[in-house]
Amino acid sequence: MKYYSTNKRAPLVTFKEALLRGLAPDGGLYMPQSFPKFPISFWNDIEKTSSGRVAFDLLRHFITDIPAPAFKKIIRDAFNFPAPLVRLNDNVYVLELFHGPTLSFKDFGARFMARTMGYYLRSQKKKLYIFVATSGDTGSAVAHGFFNIPGVRVFILYPSGRVSRNQEKQLTTFGKNITAFEIKGNFDDCQQLAKQLLNDPDIRKRALVSSANSINIGRLLPQMFYYLFGWAQLQSRRTVELSSCQVPIFVVPSGNFGNICAGLFAKKLGLPAKKFIAAVNINSGVPEYLKTGRLPVKKTRRTLSSAMDVGLPSNFARILDLYGHNRESLQKDLDAAIVTDRETKKTIHETYEKYGYIADPHTAVGIAAGLRYRESGRGNDPIIVLSTAHPAKFPEAVEKQIKEKLTVPGSLRRIIRRKNRGVLAKNNPEDLKRLIGKYIKHP
Ligand SMILES: *Cc1c(COP(=O)(O)O)cnc(C)c1O
Repeated sequence: MKYYSTNKRAPLVTFKEALLRGLAPDGGLYMPQSFPKFPISFWNDIEKTSSGRVAFDLLRHFITDIPAPAFKKIIRDAFNFPAPLVRLNDNVYVLELFHGPTLSFKDFGARFMARTMGYYLRSQKKKLYIFVATSGDTGSAVAHGFFNIPGVRVFILYPSGRVSRNQEKQLTTFGKNITAFEIKGNFDDCQQLAKQLLNDPDIRKRALVSSANSINIGRLLPQMFYYLFGWAQLQSRRTVELSSCQVPIFVVPSGNFGNICAGLFAKKLGLPAKKFIAAVNINSGVPEYLKTGRLPVKKTRRTLSSAMDVGLPSNFARILDLYGHNRESLQKDLDAAIVTDRETKKTIHETYEKYGYIADPHTAVGIAAGLRYRESGRGNDPIIVLSTAHPAKFPEAVEKQIKEKLTVPGSLRRIIRRKNRGVLAKNNPEDLKRLIGKYIKHP
């Protein structure tokens, strides 16, 4: 399998090259050249197959040069936590993707990417520098994946004052080969800076450089597995709760559209899905694009679902490419729903009152969008809302609505007690390069 750039002005590359580069030299994003269609028997029997086997069958089409035993081990190590499907009401489910070490859905993608990079780097002499812009959760998932891996240095860029206190602790307390920069700007600024650093010739001369954002295909591909796993768990409930002909609607709390892009990839493979709904906050330009064909440039405003405060989602280029830039065919598979902070709060409150379920603000955006779809009278197909973070990452927002103290998992409690080692930096590439230079010279 080869990979091409969405800008179509860069040579085809192998998975290894796409993974280690991150961004294509023409500024585009890497896409797999083809999607194999899995037969209907694969989907029907999926719940009888172990999850490790499903992930392996899925991913080996896209990554062909890692021998099976090593590849299986990577998958086992990366996906070492459960992702249960929890029922809220008759036909609305939450797929909890936050049981990994940093309590967000990003763990599986980040751990898989770190391990595949580690595999390829064993035969490399040069160091690898990873630049990662984060709106809160990517940074910690990626840092956790790479922590203490020899030959790798991670630079995290996060927007000052726009991540929760617990998230900030998760970003800044690593030390060793991880450096977190607190940028005086918003997430789009961080993303812009990361792109500039990635393509900086001086930095590229010194080391291999890669991005660990969801622009990296190595993080995106494994996330397809979530949708297969959601489908598999739905299958196993068929006889008790569901009729067999219903096809799920996936609701995905979205910011940079990496997660939902992986869902659309899975659909290409044949995953039965009626629709994908991107649940977004007021910052996203995508709902307007779907309506009018124009992707507006908006100034980002802070919301409760801060990990989704993204105006121009970087993975949208991939989605457009996947649908041949044809908005009508995209509209058939993709809807978008905007959820305001007011509705988010109300949803956290009501979800707890009605179902006894505690949702973090991002998941609440998804639940609000899912319930809205259900109430719109478009059939009674099962709705699977992807739950993207553990509520304890956002205690300020959640406790106010449920009027109770949250139980904080032990892993997070330990991190909260550690010292913040973040470095303040201006929203300016030259300044940042100078700071990074210090670390590159004295690693
Ligand atoms: C990153 C993140 C999202 C958005 O995911 P994308 O792949 O960027 O669309 C949603 N919720 C949480 C909690 C996140 O950390």
